[in-house]
Amino acid sequence: MAERTKRRWKFSLPVSIVFLTIAYIYLSTVFVFIDKWFGLSSSPGIMNAIVFSALAIMCVFNYATAILTDPGRVPSAYMPDIEDAESPIHEIKRKDGDLRYCQKCSRYKPPRTHHCRVCKRCVLRMDHHCIWINNCVGHANYKVFFVFVMYAVITTVYSLVLLVGSLTNDGSKEEDQNGGSYRTYHVISGMLLVPLSITLAVLFGWHIYLVLHNKTTIEYHEGVRALWLAEKGGNIYKHPYDLGPYENLTTVLGPNILCWVWPAANHIGSGLRFQTAHDIAPGTSASK
Ligand SMILES: [Zn+2]
Ligand SMILES: [Zn+2]
Repeated sequence: MAERTKRRWKFSLPVSIVFLTIAYIYLSTVFVFIDKWFGLSSSPGIMNAIVFSALAIMCVFNYATAILTDPGRVPSAYMPDIEDAESPIHEIKRKDGDLRYCQKCSRYKPPRTHHCRVCKRCVLRMDHHCIWINNCVGHANYKVFFVFVMYAVITTVYSLVLLVGSLTNDGSKEEDQNGGSYRTYHVISGMLLVPLSITLAVLFGWHIYLVLHNKTTIEYHEGVRALWLAEKGGNIYKHPYDLGPYENLTTVLGPNILCWVWPAANHIGSGLRFQTAHDIAPGTSASK
């Protein structure tokens, strides 16, 4: 189990907006949509409220963990593995080797580490800097970020189903005095939920692609360039950390399928060294 280093809580407007949005969606779903569709005292109403609350709790828990977890720092004693490296030490930055150096931090960079301009430091296995969590997504919080996006997709789609269901069942029940104000909830929630669920689903699909290829967002963009350069030179380029879909999934999300949806189960190693396709089958070097 990997250690998670905690960060101090800092105020951020985007994070506050996300928390307010979650609170608004939660309250309108439980107390308006579920109540109007089933009635909160009926058993289907209670069941839906319990399931939706559990999903909302998972969202908030994973979201807070992604914010509060340090994505991964380069230890001050870190020295690249010189024996492993094929190039001389004066080379400052190599795409797939150990001897990469950050001039801003005046420190060697482990493989897959990148310097974040916003955080003003190097981040292990950096994926991207996310303003919505006011933090970098990196080695130590990638999984919790991935699981958060997954729960957020399920929760927003579920809420949307309950919204539509409560609208279609509107006619079967007596129109009460609050009918007009309930409509406002439906309109505001619909305007939030439709773009939100589409954006989150696209983001989740993108990260499923990345996990299946054991790539970070940065490596995807670097890979596009490397592929172009390799093709121009008549060579083959293969992402060095791509170990095959199943190996990639277990490397990023953990060895047990049950822990893929559970954020606490994290088996991710130090973030300083990563297995490459070359380690498994020597001779199939990443970039030829
Ligand atoms: Zn740096
Ligand atoms: Zn950052």
